Amino acid sequence: MKILFVSSEMVPLAKSGGLGDVIGALPKAVREEGQDARVVMPLYKQIKDRYGDQLKFMRWSMNKLGWRTMYSGLFSMEIDGVPVYFIDNEYYFGHDSLYLDYAFDIERFSFFQRAVLEALGDPMQFEPDILHLNDWQSGMIPVLLEAHYKAHGYHTNVQCIYTIHNLKFQGIHGKERIQDLMELQDRYMSDDGVMKDGVPNFMKAGILYSNRVTTVSPTYAEEIKQDYYGEGLNDLLSAQSWKVVGVLNGIDVDSYNPETDQTLAKNYSVRTFQTGKKANKLALQEEIGLEQREDVPLLAMITRLTSQKGLDLLLHIADELISQDIQLVILGTGDEFYENAFHDLEWYHPDKVRSMIMFDEELARRIYASADLFLMPSMFEPCGLGQMIAMRYGSLPVVRETGGLKDTVVPYNKFDGSGTGFSFSNINAHEFLFAIKDALEVYHDYPDSWNQLIRQAMSSDFSWERSAKRYIELYEVILSEVQ
Ligand code: ADP
Repeated sequence: MKILFVSSEMVPLAKSGGLGDVIGALPKAVREEGQDARVVMPLYKQIKDRYGDQLKFMRWSMNKLGWRTMYSGLFSMEIDGVPVYFIDNEYYFGHDSLYLDYAFDIERFSFFQRAVLEALGDPMQFEPDILHLNDWQSGMIPVLLEAHYKAHGYHTNVQCIYTIHNLKFQGIHGKERIQDLMELQDRYMSDDGVMKDGVPNFMKAGILYSNRVTTVSPTYAEEIKQDYYGEGLNDLLSAQSWKVVGVLNGIDVDSYNPETDQTLAKNYSVRTFQTGKKANKLALQEEIGLEQREDVPLLAMITRLTSQKGLDLLLHIADELISQDIQLVILGTGDEFYENAFHDLEWYHPDKVRSMIMFDEELARRIYASADLFLMPSMFEPCGLGQMIAMRYGSLPVVRETGGLKDTVVPYNKFDGSGTGFSFSNINAHEFLFAIKDALEVYHDYPDSWNQLIRQAMSSDFSWERSAKRYIELYEVILSEVQ
């Protein structure tokens, strides 16, 4: 099968979050299963600056975008064996950040989507069977494909699958402006089409007009049909539930490998974690100025500092938690409110708390390797990577049972010893505290069970292979349905 991923991000070229990680790994994993997966994305300034000499120019054209006629260049390059196409336009993508001002982003990604469709087939020398679309930045593609191409006999065999990584950002703007950018007939610009609450909504379009919709964990695929998680699209997702499927993300198990990770004080495996994790803990305590004690439980959080991550629950029970014999390390950046709150927490408890308000990937790895418990009490979590990385490094996650956290962390069962972490169900700070206390009890009083849990966590399979196979099954289902 020929599959073209359409994305605004791809590691290592451009990343602002989980989407970049997924597109950096999934197409490669799909290729390893014998399918011809490729990627198309914008040619951002940072890619031009870093990879300019490797980019191969393919062609240029002038594309219509409402009243504008815009230059669109097509370049290509191979990344890790994956062919990647780039849409070039300096006015839209020659900037230092991936995303700019919201209103301009609507125009930038309208241009991008139309340019991608113009480039299919001869220009790219690639006519995909499947367009694999991602988030609002490519949500209009199935509508544009139908209205501008299939209706006129072009690309009639191309089918669409749409993956929701973040339901919160939907791509919404005034009707007149979108009409101008997209040039769609009235029947598409209606409540039965792309309109939602009086305005066009790119994410609604992606959901409604694609053959299948996926999101990044099975539990989140169910949750988003409810009011609390649905971001206003829950009714649509319920009505379309026959086509909504959850496929769990993986992590890059080669990069996140405590046996080979060069940033650690000491490498370790599932057989040597007892000495390995202690050495890392002592080194981290020295690095960040906490008392060097290998027996004290080290609790960690590595996260964007935003309300989604359940930080209010942690702040609510922070004093009670810190009254225990523990050390708490927080690495994150984000909302000023939380940055200040964690800064204050360290100020009040300098002997037990370190709040590092920064983004530092290497420090993050050292923390994953050193921590005994990794806290992730999220309000919602489409998939979550932090808990998987933590388990891979043998730090046991304490999570709220939501989205991908529920699907990846098996809660400890003290009767049969099964599990890979600890969990609680309600958005309730003391439930969270009790889950941590349960974990601390096992840590202190049942070292054999604790070590067994670490072994089980480190042995979990978070590779992309399983997810890639699931996506391939979905592509096959889609193609069999239209034959
Ligand atoms: P989200 O995509 O919602 O931010 P995930 O858990 O899916 O949450 O992914 C977060 C990723 O970003 C993880 O790899 C985590 O280690 C990393 N990360 C988050 N904050 C920081 C930080 N301040 N420094 C280094 N890495 C971070």
